[in-house]
Amino acid sequence: MRIAVCVKQVPDSWAEKKMNGQVLDRAGVDAVLNDLDEYAIEQALQIVEANSPTKEAGPESGHTITLISMGPDRANEAIRKGLSMGADEAIHVVDDGLAGSDALATSLVLANVIKSGNFDLVFCGTESTDARMSVVPAMLAQRLGWAQLTFAASVAVDVGLSEVKIARATEVGIENMSAKFPAVISVNEKINEPRYPSFKGIMAAKKKSIQAKSLSDLGITPSEVGGKAAWSNVKDALLRPARGAGIKVEDSGDGGSKLVDFLAEKRVI
Ligand SMILES: Cc1cc2nc3c(=O)[nH]c(=O)nc-3n(C[C@H](O)[C@H](O)[C@H](O)COP(=O)(O)OP(=O)(O)OC[C@H]3O[C@@H](n4cnc5c(N)ncnc54)[C@H](O)[C@@H]3O)c2cc1C
Repeated sequence: MRIAVCVKQVPDSWAEKKMNGQVLDRAGVDAVLNDLDEYAIEQALQIVEANSPTKEAGPESGHTITLISMGPDRANEAIRKGLSMGADEAIHVVDDGLAGSDALATSLVLANVIKSGNFDLVFCGTESTDARMSVVPAMLAQRLGWAQLTFAASVAVDVGLSEVKIARATEVGIENMSAKFPAVISVNEKINEPRYPSFKGIMAAKKKSIQAKSLSDLGITPSEVGGKAAWSNVKDALLRPARGAGIKVEDSGDGGSKLVDFLAEKRVI
């Protein structure tokens, strides 16, 4: 099996964020591997381990896991983390022309990488923790003409049958779905417990290949991506107002009814 996992570097969720004009100042904050993509890497690793003669991922398993990321130079750090978890190699699309790209452009770039990789399965997280659009996996499936199995709470692969089955968690219940390879799968955060990179994994990751690709390598012209080609533009952005001090209810025997009045006024009850 050839498995790809799409991974994005995002601003640290815990960092204090600032706006740069209408968009998030990504350069000015610490950046990390998107938390939700760690579940996708973990799932790919578990599938390879389950189907490897040595029960381990890596070159002897006969299967490969390739990380694919689109982002600036420093996205390398997030890619290295994924490699230290156990992925085999990575492709990093980095090009000045990509700045300001929207989800359509992102999916175009990632799909072009996937097309040239002869992959059986592509794993994604359900959303990035910065832009949080949750659309890239479906857009990838559409662009590739592959099956899409999204929001998976569990995944089972039958390599012999070239088939993947998922349980899809929805608001009303569970949908059991299956598809033949090739397919795009997004996994939710309940699916597994991502492993911490081991010291051995961190050392091994330093030697793993990260292939850089530019827009021209992918046959994409600059006019198809970037801020100018974006179908959506942020017109205005306001920071959320700081929290107020709140209201203190003094209880002189009537605290209960004051609380009820307050909740009724706020239409909570
Ligand atoms: C007007 C505008 C300007 C923007 N400017 C910038 C900018 O300057 N710099 C910038 O970084 N972003 C920018 N963005 C955000 C960027 O467009 C989003 O990253 C992109 O639309 C993907 O959407 P998402 O991150 O919400 O993905 P989702 O659909 O929420 O992501 C789902 C999954 O898709 C995969 N995925 C998503 N993005 C990537 C990626 N880049 N590489 C690999 N896998 C990925 C991951 O597996 C992820 O878990 C801008 C967005 C808009 C609308």
